[in-house]
Amino acid sequence: MDKYEALKHYFGHTSFRQGQEALIDALLSGRDALGVMPTGGGKSLCYQIPALLLPGMTVVISPLISLMQDQVSALKKAGVRAAYLNSALTPDQIGRVYTLAAAGAYQLLYVAPERLGTWEFQKLCRTLAIPLVAVDEAHCISQWGQDFRPSYLQISDFLASLPRRPAVAAFTATATAEVQQDIIRLLALEDPFYTVTGFDRPNLFFDVQTPKRRNETLLALLEDRRGKSGIVYCATRAKVERVCQFLCDAGIAATRYHAGLSESERKANQDDFQFDRCTVMVATNAFGMGIDKSNVSFVIHYNMPKSLEAYYQEAGRAGRDGEPADCILFFSGGDVSTAKILLESGGNPNLPEAVLAQVHQQDLARLEAMTGYCRTSGCLRNYILDYFGQTHGDACGHCGNCRNTFIQVDITTEAQMILSCVIRVREKLGYYVGKSLILQVLRGSMTKRVEELGLERLSTYGLMRKIKEPQARLWIDYLVQEGYLRVNPLHATLEPTQAAGAVLFRGQQLTMPVRSAPETPREKVRTAPDGPVSEAPDGELFAALKALRFRLARDENVPAYIVFSNATLRDMAEKAPRTMADLLEVSGVGSRKAARYGAAFLEEIARHRGKTE
Ligand code: ADP
Ligand code: ZN
Repeated sequence: MDKYEALKHYFGHTSFRQGQEALIDALLSGRDALGVMPTGGGKSLCYQIPALLLPGMTVVISPLISLMQDQVSALKKAGVRAAYLNSALTPDQIGRVYTLAAAGAYQLLYVAPERLGTWEFQKLCRTLAIPLVAVDEAHCISQWGQDFRPSYLQISDFLASLPRRPAVAAFTATATAEVQQDIIRLLALEDPFYTVTGFDRPNLFFDVQTPKRRNETLLALLEDRRGKSGIVYCATRAKVERVCQFLCDAGIAATRYHAGLSESERKANQDDFQFDRCTVMVATNAFGMGIDKSNVSFVIHYNMPKSLEAYYQEAGRAGRDGEPADCILFFSGGDVSTAKILLESGGNPNLPEAVLAQVHQQDLARLEAMTGYCRTSGCLRNYILDYFGQTHGDACGHCGNCRNTFIQVDITTEAQMILSCVIRVREKLGYYVGKSLILQVLRGSMTKRVEELGLERLSTYGLMRKIKEPQARLWIDYLVQEGYLRVNPLHATLEPTQAAGAVLFRGQQLTMPVRSAPETPREKVRTAPDGPVSEAPDGELFAALKALRFRLARDENVPAYIVFSNATLRDMAEKAPRTMADLLEVSGVGSRKAARYGAAFLEEIARHRGKTE
């Protein structure tokens, strides 16, 4: 039997998916392999077919008991001799599997990683021919992955304990280069065949929207899709409650799902959705694991998730049936801070401090990539494929950005300011620094770090004093995206590339595409080089000041505008005063109000400054 016959005979498929065949060939020739494919991309065939064609018993290491059981029962139905060993079995059942395995009864044996260290399992494996060891969910070996499992670290010892080293195949759906390097290093893969496939989902339409009023925009989207089934993901349980209520009040057949509901309600709501009694599911990310509803025709993210991995997994629940489906993400600058807060509050308390700090760095890098997706003006599909390392063609022509028209705005001057600031700071300090410090210098913020490092004396200090932070950030992100700056993966510092020289010294012009006429009145970005810039989305500080104003007004039982007007708060957020004298510079702050409320506002600003430095 060859691989094509095995494919047809055992699995009933007539052709391989892109990437599967090359991976199978590598394993059949005895080479190690690393396959990066999304969930549902067809990883299992890649090791099952070699297992069926190679003599001996293939060992599959998998952390998920239920998945293991499903796979084994499916394989058995297909006539494959397979079994599993995990803690769900009784000692008797385990004994039986060992006996049969020793007698050479199995082509595939699935085990949980904990089993590898046991004496009995090692003894079994020393007596059997093992041509291949497949490691599923291989990112679990990396501390930088989201699901680090210490038991995975035993795998390399296990491999070393075998009389003859088998080919090793590692599979993951995780993208980051660090995690992939960890997998190669910790599993000691030897010159592995490497492939990234299956991430493209041509039937999905991607779009990012920045609605002023999310509920209204959501409702309009749902009304356009009446009768169709879809999921609305929200960041928190409270949001789920509110959005679901709003939709029900508006006559949409919506239901909800989050971890705060009773088991029975979750089950009932899930069924209502599954059976199309309710067409819209409003949920947190707790919803979806193990859901296999194929006719989901849209997934709308009411809030930005914390990583592109999470986003793509959630959005990818649309269009499983191959029909055209929409993946729409609502974004505002505030989502970034919410996501940061959620990250801060997470974290595995069992990890040592230093590791935790690095994990946090990784989380921030993932968030950064997610934010980049929301801000890019390039093809959204290609942004995703780039992130997951899959090669692709030109712009897809079938995403929100490809369909929108952009105008090219000259940003040569801005680029020069940014690049020379990065270089000046490096000259002064002897090392590169991160984006937020560069922003502080450019915008002339007098933060503690700027002061300590003496950066306010640089000629580039305050060059972008009049520019709002989100706009300046957008330019920096664009320079990174276009390869004029790079983010050092180790320290998250911004560094100029070779290409920067052309813009700085050789008169190269640089333009940036800016969305020109959005269908819905989205962000109005005006990027005349020195004119007033974007009506920025309300910043974090502004939001904090508004919250403080609300508390003060409530305590005094007066309307909020009596404390300070919005315009005053906006100016205050912009100037971020440190002292009472600075505060009096803010338009709308007189001495009476400064005396009455000044201390509270200065304190809030100081607290905010502490958070963002
Ligand atoms: P993963 O392990 O990557 O999550 P699976 O191996 O479970 O994904 O495959 C997902 C689905 O794709 C399964 O239903 C499987 O039958 C199907 N599939 C895999 N390879 C092929 C193929 N070559 N042709 C058709 N369907 C395939
Ligand atoms: Zn596109």
